Formats: sequence, C-alpha cells, structure tokens
Amino acid sequence: MKDGKRSIIVDTSRCTGCGRCVSACSSRLITLDTIGSRKVAWVKFPERCSLCGRCITECPIGAMAEYPPKAAPQ
Ligand code: SF4
Ligand code: SF4
Repeated sequence: MKDGKRSIIVDTSRCTGCGRCVSACSSRLITLDTIGSRKVAWVKFPERCSLCGRCITECPIGAMAEYPPKAAPQ
C-alpha cells in the first residue's frame, strides 16, 4: 500500500495455499492462514508493501492482483 490507495489482494476462493508468494516476498509481508480446512495467503503488512509485483508474478494460478487495477495503456 505504497501510496495509501493501492494494495495486493488475494482471491481466496482460488488460492491453493502453495506458499510461492510467501517465498517470493523478500520483505516477508505475506503469510498463510487457515480458513476452514484450507490454507490461503494474505498480505499481513500491506502498509509496508512496495507493490513490486513479485508475488503476483510467482502465483501459478493468478490468484494475486494489484487493487485497484492499473489502467490499461491507451
Ligand atoms: S508486491 Fe512485493 S512487497 Fe508487496 S506483498 Fe508482493 S512481493 Fe511483497
Ligand atoms: S502463490 Fe497464489 S496460490 Fe500459492 S499461496 Fe500465494 S496466492 Fe495462493
């Protein structure tokens, strides 16, 4: 949440809990939590996120995204 408006969101309905995003974040801002019988990722310290995008790139199923999304180039 570098500019106070944008953040990384996780689609918890799709997240498989693989943990790749946890490893990808060198600032260790992402953790896995248990929801029911599933493990899902979430950004624990969004205020420290630099929006570098490594977690988004590393997620094999595209369950992470920057929100709100960047406007498409004209
Ligand atoms: S965008 Fe970068 S700093 Fe932010 S949670 Fe993902 S890997 Fe970590
Ligand atoms: S890399 Fe994607 S599927 Fe794996 S834990 Fe992170 S958000 Fe979930």
